[in-house]
Amino acid sequence: MIIDLRSDTVTKPSKGMLEAMFNAAVGDDVFGEDPTVIKLEKKIAKLFNKESALFCPSGTMTNQIAIKVQTQPGDELLCDTTSHIYNYEGAGISFNSGVQAKLLCGKGGQISSQQILENINQNFDWLAHTSLVCIENTANRAGGSYYSLAQMQELSKTCNQNKLKLHLDGARIFNAIVEIPRLKKISKLKFNDQNNSRYNSQYELIAQEIGGCFNSISVCLSKGLGAPIGSLLLGNAEFINKARRVRKVFGGGMRQAGYLAAAGIYALDNNIKRLNEDHKRAKYLSNLITEFSYVDSVLPVYTNIIIFNLNKKIKPDVFIQKLAKNNIKAVSFGKNAVRFVTHLDFTDDMLEKVEKSLKNIF
Ligand SMILES: *Cc1c(COP(=O)(O)O)cnc(C)c1O
Repeated sequence: MIIDLRSDTVTKPSKGMLEAMFNAAVGDDVFGEDPTVIKLEKKIAKLFNKESALFCPSGTMTNQIAIKVQTQPGDELLCDTTSHIYNYEGAGISFNSGVQAKLLCGKGGQISSQQILENINQNFDWLAHTSLVCIENTANRAGGSYYSLAQMQELSKTCNQNKLKLHLDGARIFNAIVEIPRLKKISKLKFNDQNNSRYNSQYELIAQEIGGCFNSISVCLSKGLGAPIGSLLLGNAEFINKARRVRKVFGGGMRQAGYLAAAGIYALDNNIKRLNEDHKRAKYLSNLITEFSYVDSVLPVYTNIIIFNLNKKIKPDVFIQKLAKNNIKAVSFGKNAVRFVTHLDFTDDMLEKVEKSLKNIF
């Protein structure tokens, strides 16, 4: 048995998901004729209370389309130094949109209204026009930390007041959505728990509130939700019409994509609530790891990502090789750090095996 903790993208479709894919009704989506793609787009738009949505092959594409549609060449966008759009999308901000990024040093991947206000360029010919703010929730490189609803609402207000567009890179937004109710501040929202609801109604309510904060939202189906492929871009109808044209230019117009959309519908129906299990296992692992003498420090674990620093005498590559000998896969993450990500295909059984291996590795 191989235990893969490199990323939550490594999951394979379950039997139920494959059945849903096999049975999907399909058509040519470039002609707007794939009923399952349309169903998925309507479903996610409704969940976040947005007018429209667009199904795309990847989260990189949904982010890049959002930037392209909401900027002009020569503009500047604001984002955190750790952000995926800046670090892991092949300089797409400049390549695709002719835009530059001003990097803000947030706290644990989170930027503040204050920082935004301090970094809006004045209206001089020689300064780039600040037009867009991008935030990431949960923040990948910052160890899966998440913004609360109140924080997102505050950023939204600031951007509105200053005529800035606000984009959410919500590759792992559902990991945030299942954690947010645990925050005490949430109690001012009233939840009516309906047991027959397919989602936890709490989560629906939080998704609606999040929807109201952003001009555009990107969510991934192929991370914690366990679909093989696919991300969705959400916004108002006018934005999505423009996004559809850009998707075609970027080569992302797909034909009988309903087979993939069916996996996405299945993921939304079945795999949101269970993210709590990934978070529990991540917390368990982090508590365990803290105690080993070969570990210097463990970043706080907020969701499903565990980043820990090894003792200076131990090179991450050596540690990772030792893990590999125990059939455990992980990635090094910066100088002395290692990252584990828990996911749908990581079971309690595997957790036990990892625990044993970590205890006996040196
Ligand atoms: C994974 C990820 C994306 C999108 O990645 P793709 O591999 O292109 O789907 C975007 N943002 C964040 C924060 C991510 O973790």
